[in-house]
Amino acid sequence: MTFQSKEWERIFKNFEHVAPAELAKSMQRLARERAFLETIFNTLQEGVLVIDGQGIITYANAGGRRLLGIGQAEVGSLALGKVSPDLARSLTESSRDLEGESWSTREIEVSYPERRILRVYSSLFHNPEEFREEPYVALILTDITQEKAHTDALLEEEKLASVYMLAAGVAHEIGNPLNSLTIHLGLMERQLGKLKAEAARDNVLDSVHICQEEVKRLDGIVRHFLKALKPVVPDFQDVNLLQILADVLAVQKAEMEDLGVQVSLELGEPLPVISADPALIKQVFFNLLKNALEAMDHDGCLTLTARLDDCDVFIDIQDTGVGIEPESLAQLFTPYYTTKATGHGLGLVLAMRILRAHGGQLGVKSTPAKGTCVTLQLPQKHRRVKLLE
Ligand code: ADP
Ligand code: MG
Repeated sequence: MTFQSKEWERIFKNFEHVAPAELAKSMQRLARERAFLETIFNTLQEGVLVIDGQGIITYANAGGRRLLGIGQAEVGSLALGKVSPDLARSLTESSRDLEGESWSTREIEVSYPERRILRVYSSLFHNPEEFREEPYVALILTDITQEKAHTDALLEEEKLASVYMLAAGVAHEIGNPLNSLTIHLGLMERQLGKLKAEAARDNVLDSVHICQEEVKRLDGIVRHFLKALKPVVPDFQDVNLLQILADVLAVQKAEMEDLGVQVSLELGEPLPVISADPALIKQVFFNLLKNALEAMDHDGCLTLTARLDDCDVFIDIQDTGVGIEPESLAQLFTPYYTTKATGHGLGLVLAMRILRAHGGQLGVKSTPAKGTCVTLQLPQKHRRVKLLE
């Protein structure tokens, strides 16, 4: 399609001399051109909006309507402030600094129709036919939620790495005195054991036992901390995910039998070989299965499901445990978040870091008092190769 702007100029200049037939033909062409442009605008991922001086949305392409959560029928009458107060507010702020042909860009967070982070380019323009009116604002919206999440994950990882460097040194230093405390408390315990049994001796012995427990706890905190925050550098190999899962299940078999937990495996089609670090993935399965067991009472049921789509493989670990309250879901991946008396709150943090280092993800869905489904997602080998490229 070629655009006939020269021809339009000629027609508009000599409007009264143009033959009706030629005018009709030109009008048809104009309609076709308009439809063509509309199609192009609607195929854009980006949202394109025009807001008039009164704040009414006068144009929105398909992307814009999707990002605002509005229908075509509302375009032309709906105020932007009604659908997206966040966006309208940012617009008032940015149009203050705008003048002439300049564009402004900013990133804002909107909560409707879902939580998204948008990059907003905006520019003011005047409709030549109503020059004295308030200017229009043209907006281009790009959804950068995923891009942002990726950058945040990288930053988080970098922050952890620097904290780890500092803390690992301190933790290492704490290890030596802890060792010496353990040895000397052991000696004291033995010496006290040789003394004549009387109330005073028993009291001291009780205190020694408490100190031993506390030293053990401190040692556990340091060890878990070092393990969870250590930089994750996978040693990639071809692995069979289900074999790794079977190995971990074998280790936990005795504990499951004690608890009377039933395990059912639902394997759909066979999973392809994936590229991953078997020791790290083992750790992930171990942490997730341990959490599931700890959430369940006697006679719980653990269902493990393997499935795949074109890009990824998924393992669902569904338990029939206590579940997680909706308000706690957001905190699960915060280091040290735990609801257990002896928990360290680092198991899920480590699992998530390992999966991310593999280009994967961890998802959690839960119904309080019914159970939790944790989904482990890992890229198939062909996708990993593409990610690396
Ligand atoms: P920890 O197990 O040491 O508490 P995690 O990071 O493994 O640390 O888990 C953090 C918290 O998430 C747990 O204390 C628990 O409240 C919750 N949680 C994790 N997995 C489950 C599950 N399968 N069912 C119920 N709650 C869970
Ligand atoms: Mg845990």
